[in-house]
Amino acid sequence: MPIKPILILAVTAGVALATGCSNPKPEMAADTIYTGGDIVTVNDAKPSAEAIAVRDGKIVAVGARAGIEKTHKGKATTVVDLAGKTLLPGFIDPHSHYFSSLTVANQVNAYAPPAGPAKDIATIVSELKKFRDERSIPKGELIQAYGYDENAMPNSIGLTRDDLDADFPDNPVMVNHVSMHGAVFNSAAMEKYGISAATKTPPGGVILRRPGSQEPLGLVMESAYMPIAASLPPPNAQQEIEWTRAGQMLYAAAGITTAHEGATVKPSLEAMQRAAAAGANIIDVIAFPFIYDFDKILADNPVETWGKYNNRLKLGGGKITIDGSPQGRTAFFTTPYLTGGPGGQENWKGEPGFTQDEINAFAKKLYDLGIPLNMHANGDAAIDMLLRAHEYAAAGSLDKDRRTTIIHSQFVRADQLDKYADYKLIPSFYTEHTYYFGDTHVLNRGREQAYFLSPMRAAIDKGIRPTNHTDFVVAPLDQMFVMWTAVNRLSRGGEVIGPDQRITALEALKAITINAAYQYREEASKGTLEVGKLADLVILDKNPLTVDPMAIKDIKVVETIKEGKTIYKAR
Ligand SMILES: [Zn+2]
Repeated sequence: MPIKPILILAVTAGVALATGCSNPKPEMAADTIYTGGDIVTVNDAKPSAEAIAVRDGKIVAVGARAGIEKTHKGKATTVVDLAGKTLLPGFIDPHSHYFSSLTVANQVNAYAPPAGPAKDIATIVSELKKFRDERSIPKGELIQAYGYDENAMPNSIGLTRDDLDADFPDNPVMVNHVSMHGAVFNSAAMEKYGISAATKTPPGGVILRRPGSQEPLGLVMESAYMPIAASLPPPNAQQEIEWTRAGQMLYAAAGITTAHEGATVKPSLEAMQRAAAAGANIIDVIAFPFIYDFDKILADNPVETWGKYNNRLKLGGGKITIDGSPQGRTAFFTTPYLTGGPGGQENWKGEPGFTQDEINAFAKKLYDLGIPLNMHANGDAAIDMLLRAHEYAAAGSLDKDRRTTIIHSQFVRADQLDKYADYKLIPSFYTEHTYYFGDTHVLNRGREQAYFLSPMRAAIDKGIRPTNHTDFVVAPLDQMFVMWTAVNRLSRGGEVIGPDQRITALEALKAITINAAYQYREEASKGTLEVGKLADLVILDKNPLTVDPMAIKDIKVVETIKEGKTIYKAR
């Protein structure tokens, strides 16, 4: 992979120690040696080390401090004292929606705790005011927030235009819903986007009205919101670069050195390619063009260009979404939801978004092209469909090494996991659901099924190498919380969701490092601290393998290093 110079200034990492050196041959001298704290290699053959040496963006030595300093410490070598902190491989994101980070980086965080500050409506308003004042946003300019969820507000009483109008008479404000399918508008935003008492609610849309009147109250969802969201102006060329850097800094601040863009449409890919060509990329980004735009993107990007980085951007494969979400009761199951459908339907099992023929055709197209396939599936009936599609498309070579990845795979059955193992399919699980929605899944699907949610233990025991993700912006970029949920599986309500599916901290760490590198066919260059691999590193304030498992979520990212250069340092 080409090493591109990073356009931001690298901050000198840690504390430079005494400069005594033992005059190694110049070609052996390292740029940097890290030592003085725990070094977790994630390499089973050599799990820990006293020091690692880095030269030209790659790891050149892993081992005992004395030996490494003797062989690799030259006059210009910086020795970084970890001062008791822990060094690990940079985190590799197995699934999120990177492109959304570009806009989110310019919005107010309205996630409820622990993901954000929005514990109530007053806090959302004060965070919006702080954002406006800190950035001196002029009158008339749109201010947006992300991650708002009325169910997380006290007594589930939602935000309205009335809460926003007093403080924002002159700025349109859109507080975007955590589903990304709606927003609460203030009066200035309603005026700007033409929502009034006279606006008819379109089919499939929601415009919440003031009780006893037609006057909109603030919340606008689905088909009433989507055209407005689509009409928001795209960034100009300069903003494209600034927003790219800001978005990637959100990943870098979470210790992530490789990001995933999980459903890429043509205009976003073009923006990502322009920003990459302009040298804006700080970390590696892997895009998965979505089925609707796949042919158009393939026409512009010949198959031989896929799977290779160009200015830190790689086309990783194609994406199809087979069903919805279990908490929204739109995931597709073989048995009914215990709580009915989202619209009150009885005997409701959910529905697939594509027919079996459509899924078969997409899988066959990608397999014939040799392009990796990512399939979103949550319910067991959706997983049956993708297994049939694999059997159709891969006929004659069911277990070929294709790195086909099943995104979420949350309600996979044990017999389906056996097929994953036989067919070399990779589940990218979503154990954060045990915390966020574990209690809801128990109600919707019953305890037995809920306890087998994202079954990491069962998968690993069958020889599968699962990954584990945030699905950002659905949940925040927080790899320690991903690990914490895989190790503890504790719900918001305090129930352990499937005690026998808990895994060790090392297994949870592998799911966001080496297993994720494998998912992207990058295991030779990333995912562990081994000689010859890229010096993509993260420094944490504590060692997640040795702290109390309940304390993993409190571990902080101190510094993130991409190919030997510091790209993020906590203040
Ligand atoms: Zn997703």
